[in-house]
Parts: sequence; structure tokens; C-alpha cells
Amino acid sequence: MMNSPYHIYIHAPWCRSKCPYCDFTVFVDRQPPFEQWMAKIISDVQWTQQQCSWNPQGPSTIYFGGGTPSLVSIEYLKTIIDTLRTPKTSEITIEVNPGDVNPTTLGFYKGIGINRLSLGIQTFNRQHLKRLGRGNTPQDTRQLLNWVQDAGFDSWSIDLMFGLPNQTIAELESDLIEMLAFAPPHVSLYGLTYKEGTPLARAKNLGKIRDIDEDLWVDQFNLITQTLQRHGYLRYEVSNFCKPPHEAKHNQGIWKNEHYIGVGPGAHGFWTNGTRTHYPNTWPAWIEKSEPLIEVCTKEQQAIDWLITAIRHHQGIYLPRLKQFGYTLIVPPQIQQQPLFQQSLHIVEERWALSESGWIVVDRITEILVQALTPLNQHAE
Ligand code: SF4
Repeated sequence: MMNSPYHIYIHAPWCRSKCPYCDFTVFVDRQPPFEQWMAKIISDVQWTQQQCSWNPQGPSTIYFGGGTPSLVSIEYLKTIIDTLRTPKTSEITIEVNPGDVNPTTLGFYKGIGINRLSLGIQTFNRQHLKRLGRGNTPQDTRQLLNWVQDAGFDSWSIDLMFGLPNQTIAELESDLIEMLAFAPPHVSLYGLTYKEGTPLARAKNLGKIRDIDEDLWVDQFNLITQTLQRHGYLRYEVSNFCKPPHEAKHNQGIWKNEHYIGVGPGAHGFWTNGTRTHYPNTWPAWIEKSEPLIEVCTKEQQAIDWLITAIRHHQGIYLPRLKQFGYTLIVPPQIQQQPLFQQSLHIVEERWALSESGWIVVDRITEILVQALTPLNQHAE
């Protein structure tokens, strides 16, 4: 029997409209079939629980993500939570968008056991909200934040975007000032990316909008980091800051390679023994298919996956953990001598973590480390 912690991710795939930058599995449906969705979510979790020896104490966390889970009626959320939670479930999070809830809804959320909110704020700037296709106004955002402050949740988080088309430093500063006035316990950062096939990427390719230049992107990233750190936030992952102890337990678990059951259209899961799962991302295929696609990863793939997430965390890579996959890190001397490598990593005995200047070059460092992965048996020869 497996006694390590595990987590449940539940994907609620509906949104009022599709934001032009979004490439998630999202359906726009006037009357979403919530009841059918709920029944399949529960049966898929229970089916998965029968497949492996999951911890009998139940999930440590449950996370309702989307899509827009705040569109789902309380009764369905309650049934799911009542069925899946156990006394050991310490964190239940729901993503909420401004304009979808009111103080009564928030009270219901608390009543059914939800103790953490993740708020899709993105920006307080009216023009940028519009360009991002967000259906809310800055006033909706402020109202939601006031209600959340009054509701007394254990924890809550703001999603903040930067790198928006034509976004100036002054506009970002103004977003930060306004956000900090609400004193969020946790902040998640999202630099806008132009995902292939999205309307925003098409507009960029046609020259209708312009991506901000790289220097400005770096200035914005640094401004956010310095501002949050000055206000007492700990960066505990490349894109996540909190006032300790408000680290997101669900995400922390996933970053630490703990197992999770991912259910809902397009949802991914990670089981014991390096098994990854993936549900179909269209409604008909999802509702009809009883089992997810299952992929058993090689030790090498497991080591790469673990390394990629571990280096993004402030605790970094602990070599003995990597060795459990049968791998270690051997960095060629010519790379070790490069300023990029020396300045970006802080290596103390067997722990390799990003230094303060390393966060911004995490992708480059990750590439170097993936190339440095070496099988232990080869190293010994
Ligand atoms: S609200 Fe979120 S999930 Fe829905 S379309 Fe917009 S970005 Fe995508």
C-alpha cells in the first residue's frame, strides 16, 4: 500500500467565451451538462483509485481548475467534494473569475469545504483586459477582491499577467500597486505567450499587434520580482510567490513529483511507477471513453520530467533524488566555466538551485541540465 501523499486535479472545461490567447481545453456552451460531467468525474477518480494502491488516507489536496470552475453550480461541487475528500484532505482550491461569484457564492464555497481560491485577475487595466478578451471590468475585479478579503478563506492567490502587447512599465507598476493594496497571500505570474493557433498569435503574425521587446520583458519580470520581494513575498517557484506559509500545497505536491489523479476533458495525471495519463480533449470522446490514455515513461523520461520541475522550485535539484531514477548530472568543464552557468546556479553539496540571477534564464539552465543527465552506470565506468 502506498502511503505517500497524492492529489486530485479536476478540470471544469467551460468558459463564457474563449480568451484569444488561450489554448486550454475549453468549451463555450450555454447550458453545460454539469450533472453528466460531475458523475463522470467521480467515476473516473474512483476507477483510478482502484488501479493503483493510492494512499488509503485519501487525497491531500483537491484542485478545481479550468476552464472556469466557478461556473459550476455549488450542488455539483459539493457532491464531488463530499465523495472524494477525507479528513486528510487539507487543501481544496477552486479557480474563480471576476464576475462569476458574489459573497453568497463565496460563503457556499467555504461551507462545502473549499479553503483556497485562485483568482483569475490578470490585470486591472481596462484596455488590456479587453485585449485579452476577459469578460470582466476592473470594477468587477476590485469588487471580487473586496469580497474575498471579507470572506476569510485560509488562503487565496492572484494570477497576474505581464508582457502584454504595448504594456508599459508604468501600467505594470500600477497593476502591482493595486494588487498589493489587497495584500494577496499568494501571487502566480504569467508572461503572455502567443500559442500557435490562437487568435492572438494570428493577430501578431498579421502585424495587428506587437509583442513587447525582449528588454522590456526582462524589465517587467525584474520589476515584479523586486516589488514582490520588497513586500515580503518569497519566490518559491519561478512564477509563484507567497507570504509563507501560503505556498500552494497542490502545486507544491506536483512540483515535488508526488502522484496525482487528473480528471476531466484533456486532463493529465501522474500515477505510481512513472505512469502518465491523459483524457481526450473533446467532449464526445471524453464522455464516452471510460479510461484515459496511459503511457509508461522510461526512467530517463522520468528523470527529465523531475529535473524540469525541480529546477524551477527554490529548493532546486537534490542529487540523491535524481539518482533514484538511475541518473546524475555531469556538466562538461567548458560549460561549468561559463559565466551563465556560474552565476545562475547555486550549488551546495548535493543541491543545485537557481541563484537570484538564475530565475530569468531558467529555460537555458534547464537545457544545460537536461544535456548533463548521465546514467549512473555510465558515470561509474
Ligand atoms: S477564462 Fe481562462 S480557461 Fe477560459 S478561455 Fe480564458 S484563459 Fe482560457
